Amino acid sequence: MMANVAFIGLGNMGGPMAINLVKAGHAVKVFDLSAQACQQLQDAGASVAESASEAIVGAQYVLSMLPAGKHVAGVYLGEEGLLARLDASVTVLDCSTIDAATARQVGEAAAELGIGFMDAPVSGGVAAAAAGTLAFMCGGDAQTFDKARVILADMGKNIFHAGPAGAGQVAKGCNNMLLAIHMIGSCEALEMGARNGLDPKVLSEIMLASSGRNWSLEVYNPYPGVMESAPASNDYQPGFMVDLMLKDLGLALEIAQQSDFQNPMGQLARELYREHQEAGNGQRDFSSILQKLQE
Ligand code: NAD
Repeated sequence: MMANVAFIGLGNMGGPMAINLVKAGHAVKVFDLSAQACQQLQDAGASVAESASEAIVGAQYVLSMLPAGKHVAGVYLGEEGLLARLDASVTVLDCSTIDAATARQVGEAAAELGIGFMDAPVSGGVAAAAAGTLAFMCGGDAQTFDKARVILADMGKNIFHAGPAGAGQVAKGCNNMLLAIHMIGSCEALEMGARNGLDPKVLSEIMLASSGRNWSLEVYNPYPGVMESAPASNDYQPGFMVDLMLKDLGLALEIAQQSDFQNPMGQLARELYREHQEAGNGQRDFSSILQKLQE
């Protein structure tokens, strides 16, 4: 099915995602504050609008990929916002990683206008965005999800309906908090083994065949030399930067606080990553937290 799609926010992630929609045959009209980002999409076959409100004219789907909650609220809410200008038949998908509270707020404002809205944050980085292999975690109603998956399938492969408005952001927060925790735990176990004379490669094999098995060990081993393809074996070039992990941990902690939930492991993970960032490692891969434990 070919659709008219408006795409707002063409950065490291939004750019390649919008290009995949063009490649899939959709009529894509784009807007970004950066003229250079717009130019790249024009070169790829999209049409460029002068503003977000011009981009959405005639759209059946509106997608956005913006930095944070304040940008998403700014684009959609208020008299100047896009929701007030949209027909109720339009489906709105915000793929940005933002705070769950703002996602719920925009979802509720859309529901009042009869517009189908989903928060649909992604798992997978720039490479997955370019390859069209992102995972989407969606929050909203079932009817909107059925419309959403048609478009999201052209940018990703695993598309989940997590629950009502905001649930996509909550799912992403839970996942990335767990990722930080098992990465740090894997580093701790490997370093303790190494200091007691074990070869990290052998120890990794043992734990992968035992109950310590987890994603960090399986595809992203943090110990240099154990896994050729992992950032650890390439001087911790990202990959997934410490700065972005800290953003996601901050959002996860907000979710915990707002639901009056104590999450000691998540809090400690954020503390360790914050110290690691402050030591100048923000742009390095998040598995470089091993080096903090080695100090
Ligand atoms: P980015 O900074 O590269 O891109 C954001 C784009 O939004 C920029 O081009 C900016 O000009 C544009 N923008 C900001 N305000 C705007 C507005 N009002 N109107 C139009 N355009 C506007 O960021 P990114 O790396 O593409 O990340 C986008 C989102 O995806 C973030 O929420 C991030 O947390 C999430 N994310 C990123 C990654 C990653 O690896 N980079 C992975 C998963 C999720």
